[in-house]
Amino acid sequence: ARRRMLQTAAEPAVTIDGHEVLVKANLASIEDASLAAASGADGSGLVRTEALFGDRATAPSVAEQVSTFERISEELSGATITIRTWDVGGDKPLPFHPQQAEANPFLGQRGLRAFRGDATLLIDQLEAICRVARESRVRVMFPMVTTVEEVNWALARLDEAAGRLPDGRPDALEVGIMIEVPAAALRPEALSTLLDFVSIGSNDLVQYTLAAERGNPALAELSDVVDPAVLQLIRATVTGVAEGIDVCLCGDAASDPDVARLLVGLGVTELSATAASVPGVKDALRRSTLPDLQDLAARALVAESAGEVRDLLRRT
Ligand code: PEP
Ligand code: MG
Repeated sequence: ARRRMLQTAAEPAVTIDGHEVLVKANLASIEDASLAAASGADGSGLVRTEALFGDRATAPSVAEQVSTFERISEELSGATITIRTWDVGGDKPLPFHPQQAEANPFLGQRGLRAFRGDATLLIDQLEAICRVARESRVRVMFPMVTTVEEVNWALARLDEAAGRLPDGRPDALEVGIMIEVPAAALRPEALSTLLDFVSIGSNDLVQYTLAAERGNPALAELSDVVDPAVLQLIRATVTGVAEGIDVCLCGDAASDPDVARLLVGLGVTELSATAASVPGVKDALRRSTLPDLQDLAARALVAESAGEVRDLLRRT
């Protein structure tokens, strides 16, 4: 069965009733990109740039970023890649962007916030992304966005970077933000009107919704993405985004085939999982119908607890 699954992995994930879901891969290295291609991923829904260049003492140049992103695009045969701008702070230190110690790093200058004082590194990266987007299918995504003002600030930095190119911002470049802070999940329309897509970062959304530090083993049971509170925020995002905006999900939750089915039932249109889990997620979706998944989601949303949702997933 595993062999058949791998043989068909590169084919699209279409439910029994004809609903297609893109299943992409999360990448932290060029090797991940070749693994993703071998696993049949439909492109990448998350390139973690802070991991890609995280072993450097000094920041990579614009040219070096361009060639690395182009390599990744080539590995995936030109399928769309979603490049996330530097996501530093909390669990993600970046040697060439040292930060001051904070009492609560996960509530501190993380993600986009880390560049409000000095945006040089961010603008250089956005220039590289714009350059790659002239030839390749690329989306850019900003992490840890909390307010509309931050969206506008990020878009202004993108314009600033694009201004360095003779032809400005490439038309084909799609722009999005991560939804990983409850404040963003509660105001999806306001945040997404100027964007092309949003992508739910379930790892951080779980952490901030349940006030349970990610990676803390003592809180592992509490930190469950299928907690009805988290599911309600995912649903609020799906139903609340501005018209025509794609809702993707690129947290670890997408790598669990059962949870992936639930997410599609909630209305998420695109998943990005670990490369290795892509074939299994596609297989699970192919064995489902959309109405069944929607029914599953409706029941999960009103469940008493994460445990009850887990039971539901085991039974359906
Ligand atoms: C997330 O928070 O779900 C996410 C995809 O980003 P990261 O795990 O890199 O914080
Ligand atoms: Mg995150």
